[in-house]
Formats: sequence, C-alpha cells, structure tokens
Amino acid sequence: MGLLECTSSASLWRGYDYFKEKRVLQITETSDDCYKALVSGNSDTPYQVEINIAHPRKSTCNCPHADGKRIICKHMVAVYFTVRPLEAERIYREAIRWQREEEQRQEEEADRLVEKVHSMKKNEVCQALLELLFDGPEWQYDRFVREYLDE
Ligand SMILES: [Zn+2]
Repeated sequence: MGLLECTSSASLWRGYDYFKEKRVLQITETSDDCYKALVSGNSDTPYQVEINIAHPRKSTCNCPHADGKRIICKHMVAVYFTVRPLEAERIYREAIRWQREEEQRQEEEADRLVEKVHSMKKNEVCQALLELLFDGPEWQYDRFVREYLDE
C-alpha cells in the first residue's frame, strides 16, 4: 500500500494544507524513496519527519500523534506531497471532481424524489407518511405532532 492509502482522510487533507502552506522546511533525500524533513507544526520547534515511500509504515515523525506508533500523520503526508507535487494536485483535483459529482447526484436524486411524491396517489402518500412518522427518528414524530396536533 502506498503512503496515502495508509493515512486517514483527515490527515490526508491536513497534510495537503501543510504542503500548500509550505510548512515543509528542509528536505533531503536520504536514500532511494526515503526523505528527511523538518515540518512546522503546532509546537514551537518543527517536527522531525522521515518518510519511506516504499515502506510507508517505516516512516517516523516525533509529533504526539505519530511518535512511537505506526501511524501516517499529516506531517508525513506534507513531506510526501512536497516530494511529489504533481500527485498532490491530481488527488486534489480528483477530490473536487468527486465532490461536484456527488452534489450533482444528490440534486438529481432530490428532483426525482419530488417528482415521485407528486405522482403518488393519496393513499400511497398517507401510507408513506405514517411509516416515516412511526419508524423514523423521534424528533421527526415530535415535530409533526407540534405542527399538526398541538393547535
Ligand atoms: Zn507528525
């Protein structure tokens, strides 16, 4: 698995921000696919980060989140993106595109739903509404009672 597949989505995007904010201060290639860097984080002294692209779990960082654990933190991700900026931009563009597609899909689904409800017969609507009220979340039931029973 690649380094990015081993990280959480939160660390991935925080790492991307760190990369864009140029928080990776010094970077040196120590051997093939291994890089050592200082990354400016939340503490006063920058974190010491070493990434191993071929063996991501051998990467290290002395931040509280990753120190002594086999976690891929945002500082490692920032170093990785600094080494491979084209990949960073590709992943960012893909995420934006995915988000747009997802929004569009949701809009289309909402449109279809509105259309469907309008095409339903009254007894079908009643049935569906009662199911939603009795099987749905309590707040929904309470809200319906407040709006239509407590007058
Ligand atoms: Zn870290």
